[in-house]
Amino acid sequence: MARVINFNAGPAGLPLAALERARDEFLDFEGSGMGILEHSHRGKQYEGVHNEAIALLRELLGGTEDHEVLLLQGGASQAFATVPMNFLHPGRSADYVLTGGWSEKAFEEAQRVGSARVACSTAVNKRYARIPTQDELKLDPSACYAHITTNNTLFGTQWRRTPNTGAVPLVADMSSDFLWRPTDVRPYALIYAGAQKNLGPSGVTVFLIRKDLLATARKDLPKIFRFGVHAENNSLYNTPPTFAVYLMRNVLAWARSLGGLEAVGARNAEKARTLYGAIDARPEFYRCPVEEGSRSAMNVVFRLPTEALEEDFVAEAKKAGMVGLKGHRSVGGIRVSLYNAVEPSHVATLAAFLGDFAARRG
Ligand SMILES: *Cc1c(COP(=O)(O)O)cnc(C)c1O
Repeated sequence: MARVINFNAGPAGLPLAALERARDEFLDFEGSGMGILEHSHRGKQYEGVHNEAIALLRELLGGTEDHEVLLLQGGASQAFATVPMNFLHPGRSADYVLTGGWSEKAFEEAQRVGSARVACSTAVNKRYARIPTQDELKLDPSACYAHITTNNTLFGTQWRRTPNTGAVPLVADMSSDFLWRPTDVRPYALIYAGAQKNLGPSGVTVFLIRKDLLATARKDLPKIFRFGVHAENNSLYNTPPTFAVYLMRNVLAWARSLGGLEAVGARNAEKARTLYGAIDARPEFYRCPVEEGSRSAMNVVFRLPTEALEEDFVAEAKKAGMVGLKGHRSVGGIRVSLYNAVEPSHVATLAAFLGDFAARRG
């Protein structure tokens, strides 16, 4: 078996230990004579996995006492709709901070539900290269909530601080950097994250919803879209994505085995330092379009002098066993995703390749 070095943006590579555990348990889960895929979501085996996944999320993050933790289907894109459906009340408005393609999509969806306004956008010619300062946020003090995207998967920018939104509930799409380092979740009224970047396979979306916000949710929605219904039923109102939750459980147990989020964060900081170091060492050849203080540790984007060289870079890297390096189709260039599962040794291999490629082609 030859596994490649996987820098995919999502679905992304998973920790080998989590996959091996799934392989070993696939046909016979804990001596039950069947795999977890085949178990009832009302049975004790699946319920054990489900509750362990939630407990691991709470343990890794800490400080979640005031939040409900939900595991739901639909992806972050469904949350773009269900968040305003639940919390954007008629006659009021919600604020959106635009820092990339996903925040634009979240904003557009909110406009379909009710009244939403842009509290700040850092777009220049439809491209985003930075995170705004606190002063740039023109927040509406009567907004139902203010929405940010903590990591901008396409443009390679990341919030390194939590913005102050005063009394307005802060809502964050953390799909591409959830659990990347220790995070104080208490300032966030709502966090959502699709699993397929940092947490596991696609199919499950994690929500942390502070109970004070949840109490204000609209009750006149179809039950399936009401976060309160899912909270009352421990995310077992209907059949959850059982296998995705199971695999996420394996990934979370792996993160704990590394030493929790302190260790995960230190690993990620080292990976980012290695790769940005290799880019910055050759400024005449590699160029990162992102402002220094806004650079993402999860998605590193950069350009080469020509698109032809970029194509060669991706093709040669592939021959060297590294995949997933092509930039998003709307942005171009190179994108390297350094999610939690990516090993530091893999980033060192890529950094060496950058040096070698520039020496030969620069
Ligand atoms: C990937 C991603 C999404 C979309 O997730 P889906 O599961 O495809 O709906 C939304 N927001 C961010 C920040 C992402 O990285």
